[in-house]
Parts: sequence; structure tokens; C-alpha cells
Amino acid sequence: MILQDWWFTTLMGVKEPIRSPLKGDTKTDVLVVGAGASGLAAALKLASSGSKVVLIDKNICGGSSTGKSAGFLTPDSELELSQLLRKYGTTGAKDLWEVAAKGVEIMVSNIKEHKIECDLQVQDCLFIGKGASGWKDVQDEVEARKKIGYSSTLYTESEVPSVLGSKAYSGAIRYTGTYGVNPLLYAQGIKEVLLDKGVEIYESSEVLSYDDHTVRTHLGSVTADKIIFCIDKPKKEITKYSEDVYHAQTFLSISEPLGDNDIANLFPQGPLQCWDSDLIYTYFRLTGTKRLLVGGGDMLTTYAKNDTTTARVINRVINNLKEKIPSIRNLRFIQYWQGRIDMTRDLIPTVLRDPARPWTHFVLGCVGLPWATFCGDFAARNVLDSKELDDEKFYRYFSADRKFFIPTWMENILGKQLVFTINNAWAKYKQRDATSKI
Ligand SMILES: Cc1cc2nc3c(=O)[nH]c(=O)nc-3n(C[C@H](O)[C@H](O)[C@H](O)COP(=O)(O)OP(=O)(O)OC[C@H]3O[C@@H](n4cnc5c(N)ncnc54)[C@H](O)[C@@H]3O)c2cc1C
Repeated sequence: MILQDWWFTTLMGVKEPIRSPLKGDTKTDVLVVGAGASGLAAALKLASSGSKVVLIDKNICGGSSTGKSAGFLTPDSELELSQLLRKYGTTGAKDLWEVAAKGVEIMVSNIKEHKIECDLQVQDCLFIGKGASGWKDVQDEVEARKKIGYSSTLYTESEVPSVLGSKAYSGAIRYTGTYGVNPLLYAQGIKEVLLDKGVEIYESSEVLSYDDHTVRTHLGSVTADKIIFCIDKPKKEITKYSEDVYHAQTFLSISEPLGDNDIANLFPQGPLQCWDSDLIYTYFRLTGTKRLLVGGGDMLTTYAKNDTTTARVINRVINNLKEKIPSIRNLRFIQYWQGRIDMTRDLIPTVLRDPARPWTHFVLGCVGLPWATFCGDFAARNVLDSKELDDEKFYRYFSADRKFFIPTWMENILGKQLVFTINNAWAKYKQRDATSKI
């Protein structure tokens, strides 16, 4: 198995996977820095409303987290609905679930409207419980969905094999409205749309400094009336809000194509996108090319500061999955890769207008393609001043002044890595927002 991102392998058929870097000085109405799901959504919203837009990225469009992701398009992220319900109460949970559902809707409608070839698969979600605690998690999710008014199907232990070829799980919940996608082809497809709309796109162009209305790269500069930063792993030279994000590492692998019989054994009622109830969960889905994509991680590497590039972790994830699903025991996996997802201390994105420079907006720590898409679109809407009734409400959810279980100053003593780990776990399993009314 080789270390290579499968989605990059699929770019070999793409006409223009990389644009020239920014050279010289240019001016524009709006500059978007960062061309992941959030920056692309921002640029598309702005370009569609007639603004002159420049988009720059230090990689290729989608080259960071977006193009490393597994391409599950679901409102679920690190926070499941039952966890949002506990944290925010019914109204807040619904607000935030619908943020991500709206992100899914924007992405799917972009794919359909612009006929982007990115292996869009309609795939229901299957959240699978492991052991007694996993069965409880599944039931909590069913209850949360009922309470908020969303439908779902519950499978008991003996019913799980009717949808997934395994007798190793204690139950599962399934729901619709979710999709699978090749996320890098999606990003490159949006790039084409933006170029058609006249957006200037520069790749391999890292913003190295930022002063007033001007950002500088190694060969040029852009001066803009408004600037939106949709970047990952932000450096403190660019923004003090770099303090608000850290990352979690996860690993992915792709198999050789499965035969039709193997697919029928694996998914007796048709392909689903699945993840389990473990803290560091295993997730898998079938691509349109009939390959199995498997992801996961472990406690030691999730919050590690640096990339882990060996296959050790993903091999263990694959072997554990093979023990549970007999029909894939002989399946060969050909490529693996890892990525680090930016996240905040409570796993909710930070989106803000910089009070010191109100022409500058930041979109940081979006966990999930749909969240990133919503937040990029939201920031662009506010740049355009086309405010909607909900905007101030979302600025409150996404504010940089949120309270956390372990206060930020403790990071000077305990270190960012440990404090983030504890605050993330607290947000997931314990936190109740002070304003929540369940
Ligand atoms: C292995 C893996 C699997 C995942 N699986 C899923 C999944 O199945 N479903 C899902 O919804 N989410 C998944 N995610 C999470 C998802 O990928 C991210 O939450 C999402 O892509 C974030 O999008 P973004 O636009 O905020 O950030 P990014 O995609 O990271 O985009 C930020 C961009 O900013 C650029 N940038 C950074 N600094 C600079 C600078 N100084 N100058 C210029 N450009 C800069 C980067 O190059 C990058 O392109 C996964 C992530 C990983 C790593």
C-alpha cells in the first residue's frame, strides 16, 4: 500500500489541475484567501452576485483538508444531533443541524447546476453502534431525531445484517438526505465555474503577510476592499485567531474495486455511508468506481502535533474492520493518506468580522465539508451586506468569545494539545450551553 491521496490520483484526467501563482500587484473588490470548501463557497457566492473576486491558495483548489476528506456529505460532524441537543437545547440543535444540512444542499445543488463530474453518490447514512454503549448512542440519536422532528430507521442487533454484512454491531440508525462525493473533483469543478465567472484564481500562492487592505505572497500582492480568510492551520503572523484552532488527524485508505457479489454481501440493500460509535470512529463508504474507502485513527495520533505518515494506524483500522465484516477479508487496499482537520475548542466553527479591521472576515475551524460550505457562503453574504434575518444569531454561535471548560489561559501551563483534547471531549460528551433550554 502506498502513501498517496486517491483523490489526487483521480486528477490525472483533469484539464488544468493547477493555475499559475500570483505575480505582481493587483486590485479587486473582494479577495478570498483559501480555496477549500469554505473559500470556494465564498468565492462562488461573491462572483454570482457580480463582485470582482480574486481567489488565492497556497496549494491547489481543494488541496488541503477538503481534497483529503472522505467526501461524506452529511450534517453529522464531530458533534452528533443528540450532542447538539444536549449542548444547545432543541432550538439551538435544530439551528446548527440545519447549518450543515444547508451546506449539503448548497454543495449538491452546485454539482447539479454546474454539472460537476465528481462522483456524486446518493448514500443514506448508517451510524452503527458497538457494544452496549454503542446501542445507547444509537438510541440517543433516534430520540434526538424524534424530538426535533427528523425521521430515521432503527435497526436492532439482529436487524443490522439486513443492511450491512456483519453480525458484530449492536444496532444502527439510518437516515436519508446524505451523499458521497469525490471532494477534490468537486473543488476543481467549482474552480472551473469560478474561472468561467471571471474570478482570478492563483494557486501555489501562500499569503505570507497581511497589512491593512493588502496581502502579500512570495511574488505579488492583492489589495482589496474586503478580504475573507478561509484558511486552515493559520499562522500567527496572519491572524491572532490562529490561537482559536488546533487540528485532529485522521487516516484514509482506498481498496481495489469490489465485485458485484462482494458489494451485495457488504451492503445487502445497496451502498450506505457508515461510521461507528467509537470515540475515534471508523468510517467507510463505497465510491462510484466500486472501491471501498475506509477511514479512522487512534488516540495516540489524533491530537499529535505533526503528521504521521506510516500505514501503521490505518492498517490497524482496516484489519479491525475486516474482522467485523467477513466479506471484505480478502480485499486489497492500494493507497492510504492522512490529513489534519482544523477544529475549535468546542468543535463549532469560528466565523467573524475582525473588530479591528471590519473589512476582514475569518472562517476558521470548520469540521465537515457542509459546515465549511455554509460558513463560506455566510461570510460572503455578510461581505455583500445582503444580510438575512438569521445572521446575528449565527454570529453568536460562531463568535470568537465562546466559553470553554478549560479556559484558554491554561494552555500556557498545560499546552494547547492537551487543553484542546479535553475541551473537545467536554464539548462532545458533557457541555451544556448556558443559554440552552431543553
Ligand atoms: C482525512 C480527512 C477525512 C475527512 N472526511 C470528511 C468527510 O467525509 N466529510 C466531511 O464533511 N468532512 C470531512 N473531513 C473534514 C473536511 O475536510 C474539512 O472540515 C473541510 O474540508 C474544511 O474546509 P475548509 O475550507 O474550512 O478548509 P481547507 O479545505 O483546509 O481549506 C483551507 C485552504 O486554505 C489554504 N491556505 C491555508 N493557509 C494559507 C495561506 N497563508 N495562504 C493561502 N492559502 C492558504 C489551504 O491550502 C487550503 O486549501 C475530513 C478531513 C480529513 C483530513
